[in-house]
Amino acid sequence: MHAGPKTVALTFDDGPSPVYTAQVLELLHRYGVPATFFMIGENVEEHPDVLRQVAAAGHSVGNHTWTHPDLGRLTRGEVRSEIERTGDLIARIGRIQPPTVFRAPGGFFTRATFAVCAELGLRPISWSVDPVDWSNPGTDTIIGRVLRHTRTGSIVLEHDGCLGPIVPGGPADRSQTVAALAYYLPRLIDAGYRFTSIAPVK
Ligand SMILES: [Zn+2]
Repeated sequence: MHAGPKTVALTFDDGPSPVYTAQVLELLHRYGVPATFFMIGENVEEHPDVLRQVAAAGHSVGNHTWTHPDLGRLTRGEVRSEIERTGDLIARIGRIQPPTVFRAPGGFFTRATFAVCAELGLRPISWSVDPVDWSNPGTDTIIGRVLRHTRTGSIVLEHDGCLGPIVPGGPADRSQTVAALAYYLPRLIDAGYRFTSIAPVK
């Protein structure tokens, strides 16, 4: 990402979440930081109000497929359906322009996925800093990985949501992600970093 010296982008995948997205929004608001949320269609359908909160706060919303499948196992038609349906829903529910950025689940972009993105006018977006927060490796581990690897142009991958029920300590528990963000965000700011969303909301 090229947005000037010491400028980075925070991205949050797999939401919207009825619990953790609001906590992430609160922290971003406290520090006046924009971010990009790559949302799953099924979760948008379940939690439409959370998408609206993200959009109302001025953050960017990206497309992250409808069911978070392994795109390598789908036909090109199925890939298109996963992506198109999600973009339509985000625009309709969020009352915003359809997303212009797309991230493949797991970052597994296939040839068909790139072709569909081109057809739909979507920019494929990967990441460069991956704290593997989705595996709940411990708040300190997430903090260490983010602070060690973030530099000018970084796209940081985090997860505010997940598919499936939220059980404390379970795979959908994103409290480590939130606690880590609360710690490293002010430290990145103190270190002179600025933040940008990947595709500004129009
Ligand atoms: Zn994902």
